[in-house]
Amino acid sequence: MTVPERSWVEISLSAIAENYRAVANLVGPDVVIAPVVKADAYRHGAIEAGRVLEAEGAQWFAVSNTSEGLALREGGIQARILVMADFPEASALGFTPVVHSLEAIGRVARGAPYHLKLDTGMGRLGTRASRHEIVAAVAAHPPEGLMTHFATSADYIGSQTAEQIAAFEETLAALRKAGIEPRYVHCSSTIPIAYGRREAWHNMVRPGMAIYGYVSPARGDAPPRQLRVRPALTWRAAILDTKDVPKGARIGYGGGFITPRAMRIGILSTGYADGLPHHWRAPGRVIAAGQWAPILGAVSMDLTTVDLTAAAHSKPGDFVTIIGRDGDLIQDAQQLARDAGTISYSLLCGIHPRVRRVYVP
Ligand SMILES: *Cc1c(COP(=O)(O)O)cnc(C)c1O
Repeated sequence: MTVPERSWVEISLSAIAENYRAVANLVGPDVVIAPVVKADAYRHGAIEAGRVLEAEGAQWFAVSNTSEGLALREGGIQARILVMADFPEASALGFTPVVHSLEAIGRVARGAPYHLKLDTGMGRLGTRASRHEIVAAVAAHPPEGLMTHFATSADYIGSQTAEQIAAFEETLAALRKAGIEPRYVHCSSTIPIAYGRREAWHNMVRPGMAIYGYVSPARGDAPPRQLRVRPALTWRAAILDTKDVPKGARIGYGGGFITPRAMRIGILSTGYADGLPHHWRAPGRVIAAGQWAPILGAVSMDLTTVDLTAAAHSKPGDFVTIIGRDGDLIQDAQQLARDAGTISYSLLCGIHPRVRRVYVP
C-alpha cells in the first residue's frame, strides 16, 4: 500500500535552467555567473540545482559555508566554489574563501586564491580598512577577486547603493594603480542584475533568488525590470479531513477565530513544522481545486485549517497548492510572504527538509 504524501514540493529543473539562461543572456558572455546555492539552494536542493546549473555552463558556485561546499563536491559538482561566510581556512579544502579582514589574508593557504570582501556600507562582513591599508596588505598575496554586497539595492529612492558603488570603485582604482588587478570583480546579487544596474556588474555576478525564479519589487523610480524568470518551486499539501461547521464555531488554538457563517472546512496535513509561517492567517490562503481557500485561525505545528466553502467538492486525499498554480489561480512566495508578514527569501529557506522534494522536468 502506498501512503499518500502529506506535504511536498515539486521543483522544476527546467525552470532553474531557463532562469540561469535568462541571467546569462542579460549579463552577456563577458560576465561570469556564480549562482548562489547557499541554504541548500534556498531549499530547492543544492546538488540537484547545482547539477543543472553546471550542465548549463556554470563554472562557479557561491555558498555560505564549507559544509555546503563539501555537499556540492560529494554531489559531483566540479565547478569552483566561493565560500562567502566562513573562515579563510576553507582554502585548505580546495574552496575559494571570501576574506573579510586584512589580518585574515595570512590564514589563507599559501598561494591559494581568495576573494577580498569590502564593507562599503552594509555593516556586515567585509573589511572597512582604508584603500591605502588594503593596497599594502594584499601586495604579498593579491586577491583573485574583489567584492562587496549592497544593503538596499531595491531602493531607488535613497542613495546608499550609489555610495557603496563609489566606495568600491575607489578601492578598486587604488589597487589597479598599484598594479593589482583582481581577476574577478563582483557586487551584484539578483536585484542589481534584474534592474540593469550595469555599473555594478563588473565581470562576475552572484544571483541567488533569480535562479529560483523571483525578483523582489523595487522601490522608487526604478528602471524597468530586464530579467524574466519563473518560480521553480511548487508547494502542495494533502487534505486530511473535511467537515461542515456551523456559524459561530471556534477554529484552532487560542479560539480567536469564530466562523462568521456555516462553513465547509478542510484540515491540511501541513503546519509551521513544515515551514509555514505561524503568523499566516487571513488574508492568507491556499488554492483548492482551482479556488481560493482562506486560512482559518492559527497555523498549528502539523495542521492548518482552511475554508473549503468555494471548493466544496474537495475531499480527504486531495491536495491544495500553497505555492504554485492550480487551475487559473497562482500564488507565489512573494504573495504568501506578504500575507504572512515575512519575506519570500525567509519563506523559501524555511521550508523544512521533512517536506519531500520531487524533481520534475
Ligand atoms: C545571498 C547572497 C547573494 C544572493 O542574493 P539574491 O538576492 O538571492 O540574488 C549574493 N551575494 C551575497 C554576499 C549573498 O549573501
